[in-house]
Amino acid sequence: MSSWLQKQVNERPDHPAFYWQDEAWTFAEVAQEVKQWTALFSLKIPNKEKRVALFSRNSKEMYFSILALWELGKELVLLNTHLSLQELHYQLTDSKVKLVVVSTESLPFFTELDQLTLIEMIEPEGTEAVVETEIDSIYQLKATASIMYTSGTTGNPKGVVQCFSNHLASAMATQENMNITDEDCWLCPVPLFHISGLSIIIRQLVLGCSFRLYHKFDAKIVTNDLAEGRGTVISVVAIMLQELLENYPKKGYSSAFKAMLLGGGPISPKALEKCESYGIPVIQSYGMTETCSQVVALSFKDAGNKIGSAGKPLMGMAIKIVDEQEKRVAPNEVGEILLKGKNVVRAYLNGEQWQTVKWTVDGWFKTGDMGYLDEEGYLYLVSRLSELIISGGENIYPTEIEHVIQEFPGVKEVAVVGEADAKWGAVPVAYIVGESTITTERINTFAKHYLAKYKLPKRIYLCHSLPKTASGKLAKHRLTTREREAFLSK
Ligand code: ATP
Ligand code: MG
Repeated sequence: MSSWLQKQVNERPDHPAFYWQDEAWTFAEVAQEVKQWTALFSLKIPNKEKRVALFSRNSKEMYFSILALWELGKELVLLNTHLSLQELHYQLTDSKVKLVVVSTESLPFFTELDQLTLIEMIEPEGTEAVVETEIDSIYQLKATASIMYTSGTTGNPKGVVQCFSNHLASAMATQENMNITDEDCWLCPVPLFHISGLSIIIRQLVLGCSFRLYHKFDAKIVTNDLAEGRGTVISVVAIMLQELLENYPKKGYSSAFKAMLLGGGPISPKALEKCESYGIPVIQSYGMTETCSQVVALSFKDAGNKIGSAGKPLMGMAIKIVDEQEKRVAPNEVGEILLKGKNVVRAYLNGEQWQTVKWTVDGWFKTGDMGYLDEEGYLYLVSRLSELIISGGENIYPTEIEHVIQEFPGVKEVAVVGEADAKWGAVPVAYIVGESTITTERINTFAKHYLAKYKLPKRIYLCHSLPKTASGKLAKHRLTTREREAFLSK
């Protein structure tokens, strides 16, 4: 088998492949460019260095670097550019990486990290660097394509070893669910160092669709592209969707627009209703770094009548909901979500201690997420296992409370966590960023119309900000330690 890129060049050399700002490349042109980058890297990276890290925001250089390093058979450690120096040091040490390909703008960040070889991510100049070899590399399916760290929402990020076979299974399942063809153009405002972004490159290579990359998410630019028909599909996270709704154009999006693939975390039902009223086709999805992108998704036909559901398992995926003894529970009963399928990775990097915690003896992956399947097999997410609050024997799911508080005027952000309580074991409390006039009483007068009494937050803490991971997710576990003090309004 030749590389996936070569396959696209053979099948559709003149088909549009890649868009970056005002530039465009066909598959043949991408391959030509990749050849130059491959030559450059083969001069700079010794053969014996099997593993190479990349540190860059989205850019055309990042895109070509990924493809070229794969041509050279390297395992790519994709680093989040928002990591603190300490987090970065942890990931580099954990992955035992000695060589980092870094964007020019990020080079200064590395001055404090020694014992690393840095390669600046700059376009190979002219033809000098070009070694005239055909791209004839092979993507071995069992080989590691990428190592990506989880977001660290529930604790320390874990290095996830993603093989080409995992990525391939994910792309094929997406094709089946969303009917992706080479006529599609996938817009990528999400970072390439995340599975949400990297998986779009894989789909391009496997399915032959076009790919438009953005340096960062800018609602106005993306809206304009969607209105002008410059993309048929886009991957977004909840906060991007909110901004797109605020910028929704009067004339709507182009008729070529097919779907917004929404993933990464929970979304408020209000936002989804708004999408429906605008006629924006949203495909809600559920997935994680360990499953190489979405594994459960809601198809268009179900979007209207299954609001709030993450959908059904994609092709080749099996799902079950289990209790603490790992026994399947009945429909509509909440338990832990277990997954099995070719896109689920089999191990964490250096993660022997996780093997029995996260994988059952018969190979199911324990997601650490809680949810239920309805009678028809649609999945609903309710909480992270680690965020569940058990108060006087009742299970409380913080997201349910957060969705209500979010609607209170003046609330910008909210995180509900459990706080130890002598009587109840634990009680819900809310950390809120918002107007200083917000009080526990006012919130609860409002919330009691929607929530049972035991779910009402016992205390409200006003904050200037909430702890976030490098990928922008709420890191609630940090509100349960002494660190919480740093976020409280004075
Ligand atoms: P860590 O594993 O380090 O704690 P993380 O789980 O946030 O971090 P990711 O792999 O980036 O790392 O995120 C996957 C998680 O995001 C899922 O396990 C789930 O908790 C959450 N998630 C993904 N999709 C959805 C969704 N549609 N609704 C609710 N939560 C979701
Ligand atoms: Mg996780």
